[in-house]
Amino acid sequence: MSTDLSFQRCIHPDCGKTYAVSEVLTACTACDNLLDIEYDWSRLPVPGSLREFEAKWANRRNPLDYSGVWRFRNLLPWAPESSIVTIGEGQTILQQSNAVGKYVGSNAGQLFLQYEGLNPSGSFKDNGMTAAATHARMVGAKMAACASTGNTSASLAIYASTAQLFRVVVFVGSGKIAYGKLSQALDYDAKTLQILGDFDDALERVREVSGERGIYLCNSVNPFRLEGQKTIMYRVLEALAWEPPDWIVVPGGNLGNSSAFGKAFAELKALGLITKIPRLAVINAAGANTLYRLYHQQGLRWNDGRTDDAKIDGFFTTMDAEKRRASTLASAIEINRPVNLKKCLRALETCNGVVREVSDQDILDAKAQVGAGGFGCEPASAASVAGAKLLRAEGVIAPSDRVVCILTGHQLKDPDATVAYHSGNRELFDEKLRKQGVTSAPYANSPTVVENNLQKIIEALGV
Ligand SMILES: *Cc1c(COP(=O)(O)O)cnc(C)c1O
Ligand SMILES: [Zn+2]
Repeated sequence: MSTDLSFQRCIHPDCGKTYAVSEVLTACTACDNLLDIEYDWSRLPVPGSLREFEAKWANRRNPLDYSGVWRFRNLLPWAPESSIVTIGEGQTILQQSNAVGKYVGSNAGQLFLQYEGLNPSGSFKDNGMTAAATHARMVGAKMAACASTGNTSASLAIYASTAQLFRVVVFVGSGKIAYGKLSQALDYDAKTLQILGDFDDALERVREVSGERGIYLCNSVNPFRLEGQKTIMYRVLEALAWEPPDWIVVPGGNLGNSSAFGKAFAELKALGLITKIPRLAVINAAGANTLYRLYHQQGLRWNDGRTDDAKIDGFFTTMDAEKRRASTLASAIEINRPVNLKKCLRALETCNGVVREVSDQDILDAKAQVGAGGFGCEPASAASVAGAKLLRAEGVIAPSDRVVCILTGHQLKDPDATVAYHSGNRELFDEKLRKQGVTSAPYANSPTVVENNLQKIIEALGV
């Protein structure tokens, strides 16, 4: 057992091996399971109530108090303040939206959108990357790397370019990366390797290369990242005056977010800072539904940490044998082997959670509604709203339930799908969307083509 105030610990209850925070690991060396960051809360200054965090707003000239991640640093106390790398991440808002609420089927006032696209690189990934960058600095890393469907690389690249502490190499798969995201990695001067394969291939290679060359790995197998992502839940609670909602609905890709949310609530409850834990809904795209299948078709559960590993291995062996590969327009969640699968199962247990899958059609329709009723989002993010609508229709979520949908990425990240959906250009629609099983665009807001003539323009306006 470690005597440090914070340490890393294997998630498997029969192992539980601990490691110092200063060690750079992505898995337990004894049993290869994931690691958690744990704290000896009995020897740490635990806040008396969550309201104490609001006082930090008065001290916004201190970059650590300005950060929407680090003003909660007492709840992730593993980094010395002098090591923290922050670029003002986490200035995100919770918007109550009756327009989207109506679409979902919620009562007025009960549907909320958490806009993580407002982060510096335009996705929630910055919540975790500020923590990974901090840890990289603590251990003196000269180079950091990640595999990415786009947003992780954009986030790592912006931290590297602004902090100038380490060089970055990002591994992206070929084909599906959205231009908005690729442009960020290039613009932020990250060395970019386009692997001839998909995301899962890129992740496997980057893990090998990192191990081989001692490069700091920033994928969500990095347990420090998930500590930063816990703060998304703290900000949601803060926006709701510390009253936990009934539901948190989140898209599921590599399952880092859902895992972090579960840990956040488990800790807050254990510390006596909340009494109620919201229910968690993790939403897969139907074209990338590993969690959904394992959970519903194979009955896989956390099982007190003794997950049925043979079931998981068998699932992936079959997946490979059948050459089944994830395919969805929601590229940020186009993942075959979610690395945080077991932690997500634990979070589902903690939060009495549910798992659903939604089609690309559902995702794009929900995305159009998020755009029409708010700030918009990228396709993967809209899986949360589509999932909330499905759970409402099933009666799992009640009309009176207070529901928070996490919008993980900015509207401008992936304009291709948006334009294809709205433009009314048949060729573009067929090429980008119909190929992926989207057959209609019921919420399309198509531009009207009009002659360059005042009278015609007035007629077109219809006013
Ligand atoms: C990374 C990402 C996700 C998936 O999150 P996980 O934590 O991997 O489940 C969803 N949406 C967007 C926009 C992302 O960038
Ligand atoms: Zn272990």
